[in-house]
Amino acid sequence: MRKDKLNKFKKLFEAQRKSILFNDRIIREDFGVCSDDRYDELDQATTDIEQSMRMRLRNREMLYIKKIDEALKRVEEGTFGECQECGEDIELRRLEARPTATLCVSCKEEQERQEVLTASGREHKSLGDTFSRKFA
Ligand SMILES: [Zn+2]
Repeated sequence: MRKDKLNKFKKLFEAQRKSILFNDRIIREDFGVCSDDRYDELDQATTDIEQSMRMRLRNREMLYIKKIDEALKRVEEGTFGECQECGEDIELRRLEARPTATLCVSCKEEQERQEVLTASGREHKSLGDTFSRKFA
């Protein structure tokens, strides 16, 4: 990948990292307010759902930070933009849509086909369905 493109992705990752960490601080400060102030029983249920939603969001963000760190490492090592499966360059359009992608389109499709076939793929899907039914 050309150096100017690489730098563009590097800047993007650093900016995303910063903004996630900033959000994280806000969430934590918010948590403090929840436990000290509004604390009657009716609010409690809402607060619990709110908190679990926040935790889910936070977990997702932490996971994303990990991906960003890995991507930044690949930028440093000069392997950013290579498919980890077949070693070909990942399509630039794909990287622009999903900068932390580690697989090219065809390897990704193959991986998704495999996931559908495995039990863990099914389990994951049914868990998601339960969750959306509960809160729909
Ligand atoms: Zn590939």
